[in-house]
Amino acid sequence: MLRSFARTFASYGFFFLFPLFAPAQASSFSVGTASAAPGQKSMGYLEVAAGVDAATNIPVVVINGEKPGPVLALVSGAHGTEYTSIIAIEKLINLLDPSQIAGTVILVPIVNVQSFEQKVPHVNPVDHKSMNRFYPGNADGTQTERASFIVTKEVVDRCDYLIDYHGGDLDESLRPYAYWAPTGKQTQDRKSKEMVLAFGLDHIIVWRDRPTDLSATRYLDNTSTARGEPSIVVEAGYAGIVEADDVALLVDGTLSTMRALKMLPGNPRPIENPVWLDRVVDVLSDGPGIWYPLVKRGTYVQEGMKIGFVTDYFGKLILEARAPVSGVILHINAVPSLKKGDNIADIGVVAAHAP
Ligand SMILES: [Zn+2]
Repeated sequence: MLRSFARTFASYGFFFLFPLFAPAQASSFSVGTASAAPGQKSMGYLEVAAGVDAATNIPVVVINGEKPGPVLALVSGAHGTEYTSIIAIEKLINLLDPSQIAGTVILVPIVNVQSFEQKVPHVNPVDHKSMNRFYPGNADGTQTERASFIVTKEVVDRCDYLIDYHGGDLDESLRPYAYWAPTGKQTQDRKSKEMVLAFGLDHIIVWRDRPTDLSATRYLDNTSTARGEPSIVVEAGYAGIVEADDVALLVDGTLSTMRALKMLPGNPRPIENPVWLDRVVDVLSDGPGIWYPLVKRGTYVQEGMKIGFVTDYFGKLILEARAPVSGVILHINAVPSLKKGDNIADIGVVAAHAP
């Protein structure tokens, strides 16, 4: 009741007397069932109705700043066991103060609720699909596709900037890094580069040649990028472990990026000399077996160097895994289990020149 009174008053009273005083921020901002007036924080859900499989509710928070400004979306938990990124967004839900913010922040802490609750890595256990591969989604598809459709409509289509948070999954020992995906559009690329530098992670992958077909953008950040919104991906945390330092990287990086976007007072603290990586090479397992790593996340390896080995279930050596390129171990398999086609490691190749 209070809200509808305020709206009536604003449109008849103030607007009539002071027609220039009609800022867009003076109204509430709604995402899913969350609706926040300026200066307020509101919690709700993106409701994904039942279809060919079960319904699901994705938690969403809207923090509507007192001052006008852009809309920034922070999304984590597409992979529900990449815990560090989820905990970082949970911290930001409490930390961000609408009285300090210029603009609006949409926070989605856990996209893949079933993965989180059932401790299933990589996919949504309902339909066994990755929740970061089916964008922009499909209203008539399986749960992952319907959820992706709603995230596109309610979050991507509503924001000006987007940050997608990931990390090492239960079976991935990962060192922190970010992705920057230039599009060739100068203004957008300048802004997204400013964001990724302000975030402050010291290794940045330059991700080129991504899908540009708006109906098949696959990844969340790419869905937003392809719609003209500067967007980045950040990764920290590994193997189910939530370390305070990793959470702090994501929380502080977000605050610094918000300062760069003028959504918070103060100056950003951009990384001055990041390591730019222009290629990521997968090392895959060609059969099942037991994995023994010989290097750690973040180790720099030379082409040909042994990074681990695989035995069969009787202890017989069946594979020596060697680095196919020189570079940095971005993540390496964190557990002994290996099946055919599993990712043993990802190696980032250092770019010859900074972009
Ligand atoms: Zn992920």
